Amino acid sequence: MVHPARFELATPGSEDQCSNPLSYGCVWLQPFYHSINFSAILSAMDIHTNIPLKNYLTMKLGGTTRFMTEVFSVDNVKQIVANARTQNLPIFVIGGGSNVIARDETYPGIVIRNRIKGFEIVADDAMTTTIKVGAGEIWDEIVKKTVDMNLSGIEAMSAIPGTCGAAPVQNVGAYGQDVSETFVSLEAYDTQNDQVVTLTNDDCHFGYRSSIFREDQFNRYIILSVTLQLYKASPKPPFYKAIQDYFDTHNITIYTPQTIRDTVTTIRSEKLPDPKVKPNSGSFFKNAIIEGWLLKELLETYPEMPHYDMGDKRYKVPTGWLIEQCGFKGQLLHGMRVNPANALVLINESAGGYSDLAAAREEISNQVRDTFRISIEQEPLELK
Ligand code: NAP
Repeated sequence: MVHPARFELATPGSEDQCSNPLSYGCVWLQPFYHSINFSAILSAMDIHTNIPLKNYLTMKLGGTTRFMTEVFSVDNVKQIVANARTQNLPIFVIGGGSNVIARDETYPGIVIRNRIKGFEIVADDAMTTTIKVGAGEIWDEIVKKTVDMNLSGIEAMSAIPGTCGAAPVQNVGAYGQDVSETFVSLEAYDTQNDQVVTLTNDDCHFGYRSSIFREDQFNRYIILSVTLQLYKASPKPPFYKAIQDYFDTHNITIYTPQTIRDTVTTIRSEKLPDPKVKPNSGSFFKNAIIEGWLLKELLETYPEMPHYDMGDKRYKVPTGWLIEQCGFKGQLLHGMRVNPANALVLINESAGGYSDLAAAREEISNQVRDTFRISIEQEPLELK
């Protein structure tokens, strides 16, 4: 049964920091920028100037952006892109700010906060339900909604911060599920051709924590909505060890999207610092993917090295383990704390800015490379 369209766009409103230009230091265009002509869009949208990015990024560091605005509709997106092009200003879209790092210098363009809402069931059959969600919806709220509907497919990705539009960018994943497995398509505004396009799963070239949106088509598309096909069947083992261990300890033998969600939420709250309390961007490094020959050589020296077959003669080696072996777990480096519970996460305890974070990143990645001959890669995108 196909449900009637319920895909509504939110009206600009009250929910958070920058929607009121009087709050949080948001101001209308200031005299210095009067040469920039946003008059065509000022009537419809709030454009704010000189906004400290740390207020919008969970790592809580970095400089300011010259302009910031929120988009609530495709029309908002079109207006902003057209005006930014006229003024020759770069644009950068953020969602929840949980996977983006800002540098210390002022960003010279417009940061767009994606607030496009919507939740619609677009297809429903005996086995599956397909949903279309606005890119500005909060990811975990949508996971909760689908779990409440007893649908399976994204429940292991519970409690990941950020928005739905950000999920395909890095092909978000956790505990054995990743977005590409349920992803059908997305709608995006193509800033190169000025049109709304639909991109299929194949078009997105999903890989391990990667897609075209963070690789060769970086900053080309503004994601408007995401369509996912979820399953009515219950989740089945084998589960990741951490989940199975929790089930065993708590005598859980009936596996539902809800039991997986509850388990993952509990495990994550124990292992991962809450960004509202301890500023961080989740996993700061991607897990390493290495060739079989290198793994073989390394296992001779480090027989206990954990590794997972990627099915293409390459192996995933947990970067948290590599960092821990180098002695960094729990250490404070340039104001960044290597999380004592999970060395993949860096916590901004007292960093003076991006330069401190970069120094910590270099120290860790150089040591990992010198010890294991493995280059590790930063997971969060950089605003540039
Ligand atoms: P862990 O259990 O200590 O394991 C370390 C790494 O080994 C994980 O990152 C995971 O890779 C991989 N791994 C473990 N069991 C595996 C299996 N059966 N098959 C394939 N790979 C396996 O991991 P953790 O650091 O506590 O993280 C647990 C889960 O939460 C992971 O899936 C991780 O991705 C996710 N997580 C996500 C974020 C985020 O910011 N999005 C942050 C922290 C953790 P994968 O990462 O590929 O699953």
